[in-house]
Amino acid sequence: MKYILSIDAGTTSSRAILFDKGGQLKGISQHEFPQYFPRESWVEHDANEIWETQFKAIFEVLKTPGISIDEIAAMGITNQRETTLIWDRKTGIPVHKAIVWQDRRTAYICEDLKEHAGLFLAKTGLVLDAYFSGTKIKWILDSDPSIRTRAEAGELAFGTIDSWLIWKLTNGRVHTTDVTNASRTLIYNIHNLDWDKELLELLNIPSKLLPSVVSCSEIVGHTDSSLLGFEIPISGIAGDQQSALFGQLCLEPGDLKNTYGTGCFCIMNTGEKAVQSKNKMLTTIGWKLNGKVTYALEGSVFIAGALIQWIRDQLQLIASAEESETLAQSVENNGGVTFIPALSGLGAPYWEPEATGAIMGITRGTEKGHIARAALEAIALRSRDIIIEMQKDAGANFKSLKVDGGATNNDLLMQIQANLLGKEVIRPKTTETTALGAAFFAGLAVGFWKNEQELKQIWKEDKRFIPEKNKDTKTIISLWQKRIQKVL
Ligand code: ADP
Repeated sequence: MKYILSIDAGTTSSRAILFDKGGQLKGISQHEFPQYFPRESWVEHDANEIWETQFKAIFEVLKTPGISIDEIAAMGITNQRETTLIWDRKTGIPVHKAIVWQDRRTAYICEDLKEHAGLFLAKTGLVLDAYFSGTKIKWILDSDPSIRTRAEAGELAFGTIDSWLIWKLTNGRVHTTDVTNASRTLIYNIHNLDWDKELLELLNIPSKLLPSVVSCSEIVGHTDSSLLGFEIPISGIAGDQQSALFGQLCLEPGDLKNTYGTGCFCIMNTGEKAVQSKNKMLTTIGWKLNGKVTYALEGSVFIAGALIQWIRDQLQLIASAEESETLAQSVENNGGVTFIPALSGLGAPYWEPEATGAIMGITRGTEKGHIARAALEAIALRSRDIIIEMQKDAGANFKSLKVDGGATNNDLLMQIQANLLGKEVIRPKTTETTALGAAFFAGLAVGFWKNEQELKQIWKEDKRFIPEKNKDTKTIISLWQKRIQKVL
């Protein structure tokens, strides 16, 4: 057996990636699928379009020259989390479009239940928010009395996208999810590892809807032979951020990774301890492996790479995201400019949804380069805000930060991040760390890789950014701390 097939079911596209034993990418296929915005703040996906694009990607990647399907040892799945789907167990037909994690339609349900927010937090580690699956399930059930009747009769199945794809891949034989996806639903107790009756009652969700919950690394079923002419074991499942944490081999308490995409997603391994944050970070399950649960703290920045898109598309200071680096390098420092990137409020640790953005410290000497530099600093400063609080919550002193995502191609941004944290920033060779994590989980379950030690040998570093002693760093941080208060 030579390869692991990793399925990366993202928010905008379905990808299938082949990794070999050395963790090298050997084939990739990707298809986008449509996003539906039926009303303001509603975001939907068509589950059949997710399945069709995913299957096409799998089919195509298996046609990679030199690859034969009987060389695939196992399949791992990672997915956009929280996105909610309910389908008919007999026909496989979804009763509604999938409600995507970004969708805010259920904010009123959270408002109605807000007296129970403490209970949800204590049991699930999550803030009571429309982001998570629980209120989305309730919304679908409430949307049509016949859906609720069918759900109560056990005719329907709920799942996040991992569940849906596994159900399709096994031709309806397996209805399951893993602990990481379950931990984002608002109805799964992350301490006793079970669906929680009290929370299900509060949300009026019948337990007959729910999938079984498995670990991240075990054989849950096989792909139906009618699909690919071959039965591939499905043996790894994890939500995207947790998969990336494992793909980055953040295996020890205090290890953390930050993904720099449209937003930033930062997640820290806290070991066997489910740490409850004092700073509104989320507590979540990192993974369950060999019977042991590893917990994590998670915090996100809404606007990161999106800030670069904004200065490209709205201000038109740059023609491409890459140009932000050269423009920022055209000046020696930020010239006293601070960019507060509160373009859609400010998340953790400020949690000020009404905050708006600002560019401060402008003088007659301010140039385009200063604005670009301040924008890169803003991404790193928002990440720093979160990392510092996480570190306090976890009581762990981290050694270095592992990074991934599109904006990590920007060396200057990575250097700024290292300087502002005073810690090393490590960028891996494989940029596909999310898919790699799922591959690792799948491979460990079938003996393709023996243990974590073997994974450490194949994980390769691309570049390490060492913090520079720079007199500007202190000033950047103190101006930031002072100026951010002005938008709160
Ligand atoms: P997502 O998965 O959220 O779509 P990606 O990981 O593909 O994000 O990264 C894309 C984001 O990264 C965009 O917001 C873009 O502006 C930003 N980005 C890409 N390359 C660079 C770069 N060289 N410098 C700064 N930002 C970049």
